[in-house]
Amino acid sequence: MLDQPDFLNLVARGETGLRPLELLAATQSVEARFGRDRSRERSKGPRTLDIDILLYGDEILELPGLSVPHPGMRERAFVLVPLAEIAPGLRHPADGLTFASFIESVSGQGIYLRAARPV
Ligand code: ADP
Ligand code: MG
Repeated sequence: MLDQPDFLNLVARGETGLRPLELLAATQSVEARFGRDRSRERSKGPRTLDIDILLYGDEILELPGLSVPHPGMRERAFVLVPLAEIAPGLRHPADGLTFASFIESVSGQGIYLRAARPV
């Protein structure tokens, strides 16, 4: 959705002992702790915090409420660019194409690097 204020985005990598649906429950409870109320928001519109599970190792999952890899990730510059910063050679587990190779096709989506402010 373009008609909304700018938002910050980042990609993080971690290790977990949680199974996929447990991880989704955990990330949704973090969203709720940061004030997210899904009943009051427009789809793809502004929210206080949105944590998406892009990948879960090399697994391909179609579970109730959880698709991994995240279906939209190769169309979104705000996913691909920060993902390439931490994992430039990473490949999609289904077709083996690097995520970085899709960055060119999403140029022009208006993202930019926000310089870190010294603390
Ligand atoms: P958005 O698609 O903009 O992230 P939401 O955060 O409201 O929208 O997510 C809608 C639903 O998407 C969630 O309730 C969740 O069950 C589902 N979902 C499916 N796959 C994933 C995933 N890989 N990561 C996070 N949520 C997912
Ligand atoms: Mg989400």
